Amino acid sequence: MQGLMMDVPLLISNLIRHAARYHGDTEIVTRTVEGPIHRYTWADAYARVQQLANALQGLGVKPGDRLATLAWNTHRHLELYYGISGVGAVLHTINPRLFPEQIRYIVNHADDQWVFVDLTFVPMLEKLAAEFPKVKGYVVLTDDAHMPETTLPNARSYESLIADQPAEFDWPQFDEKTASSLCYTSGTTGNPKGVLYTHRSTVLHCYCVCSPDALGICSRDSLLPVVPMFHVNAWGCAYSTAMAGAKLVLPGPKLDGASLYELFESEGVTITLGVPTVWLGLLAYMAEQGNRFSTLQRLVVGGSAAPLSMIVALEEDYGVDVIHAWGMTEMSPIGTTGVLKGKMLRLPKEDRYKLKLKQGRVVYGVELKIVDDAGNRLPHDGTAQGELLVRGPWITAGYFEDDAATKAAFDSEGWFRTGDICTIDADGFVQITDRAKDIIKSGGEWISSIDLENAAVGHPGVAEAAVIGVHHPKWQERPLLIVKPRKAGGVDKAEMLQFLEQRVAKWWLPDDIVFVDELPHTATGKLLKSKLREDFGRHRLPGA
Ligand code: ADP
Repeated sequence: MQGLMMDVPLLISNLIRHAARYHGDTEIVTRTVEGPIHRYTWADAYARVQQLANALQGLGVKPGDRLATLAWNTHRHLELYYGISGVGAVLHTINPRLFPEQIRYIVNHADDQWVFVDLTFVPMLEKLAAEFPKVKGYVVLTDDAHMPETTLPNARSYESLIADQPAEFDWPQFDEKTASSLCYTSGTTGNPKGVLYTHRSTVLHCYCVCSPDALGICSRDSLLPVVPMFHVNAWGCAYSTAMAGAKLVLPGPKLDGASLYELFESEGVTITLGVPTVWLGLLAYMAEQGNRFSTLQRLVVGGSAAPLSMIVALEEDYGVDVIHAWGMTEMSPIGTTGVLKGKMLRLPKEDRYKLKLKQGRVVYGVELKIVDDAGNRLPHDGTAQGELLVRGPWITAGYFEDDAATKAAFDSEGWFRTGDICTIDADGFVQITDRAKDIIKSGGEWISSIDLENAAVGHPGVAEAAVIGVHHPKWQERPLLIVKPRKAGGVDKAEMLQFLEQRVAKWWLPDDIVFVDELPHTATGKLLKSKLREDFGRHRLPGA
């Protein structure tokens, strides 16, 4: 028997309409690419989103067309999020930090019709435009006064595009499974792969993100996403702030400690989100200046493992609750969040930190399983490690026009292979031990490169650390630690080994340590292990 409830589609246009109606006076503040702070409200944003929707129709944009953005976190980018998806087209956010070669592939693979680009990225795009035969034109995210001389064909300013348009638009109602946005994973090998979100998956993910045991975003929050809007839709922030009616503070291109701290304080920021490298930069600035946060309550860290030293500093020195989260582009991205349960609040401090160091516990809506090499399920006992597979309504069902990648990504039961190795405990806490391809296989045992890296960055002389497996004649692979010291010569090998001996099992100790000036990163700020393997894979270990 069918139930008797309304069949109202979950559409992205309804999110901003809600924010404009009932949180119309709540602010959206942007540090613009041009420099000054821009300030308006959800009601103002909605009026301009409707102008944009009219302008898009004027450009001849059709449902399903892909429209690309190369842009920072700004109010104009936010308007594109709602305007493009709202008319039934697909918002394709491109990570401008990708190699030009990857951007060329992505724009052509996605068959983008128009490209919306921040001033910062105009020169880079000018060099590529000749290779985009299908792109009809470019919209530079600025006004006519700041419009640069450009060789981009059919280019105009965003403000001139929307200026004379009516601020009312009748949003089309369509199937909630319609594609809303497209985001390519940076992928350290092979071509980038496109994840195509739906209106339904986006809105369901948004409910999850706002729930108290996930990130608990509410109308009292002032939220600053450091995570870029070109990286998995800023982990859903652009949508969840509208659902909650929260204040949104967009940092534009300035992500250094001083600029972030200034916005945290001036805009009463209560919650912020970003990858560990950003927080390392902020913590270094805070320590140098002797500053304090006056309003910041929660800090969400994900994308790579958060080291214990960072969690402890944020919680104990600055009184900020750290929420360690895990997810993927393919998962919209949230899979687990590290909000402690009531029974855990009474645990001794060390035990609470052990839990906070894990990647969080599973949210409702995502199912997890771990399997061994033969695909057999392993117990959720906090000890058994295996490959993590996931299932749920905001997890990808296949890559955009990429059959080969799709085929490899799912098991016979249709679960998505994350490529991560982890344990899961009875409370649903996940601890990622490694990427499957990064784990070090030493004499039949596994060594977690993440655990070793975390232990190494706990040393005050270490700015950043990476561990890779290097061939060993007897053990198959042994760990090599690569360290970027805070000061050149500030820490030596013997001291480092002594420090690690207190913190990891003896057989985990790296066989060698090398010191470098810089470590390579991916376009999303993660350690680029493939490059390190290329550079150090043939490193001769002492005694090997
Ligand atoms: P990209 O690097 O292409 O942006 P994603 O952001 O989708 O890709 O990366 C997802 C991967 O990042 C996960 O599969 C996992 O390996 C890693 N990751 C994400 N969050 C964490 C975390 N908190 N701790 C450790 N690894 C993480």
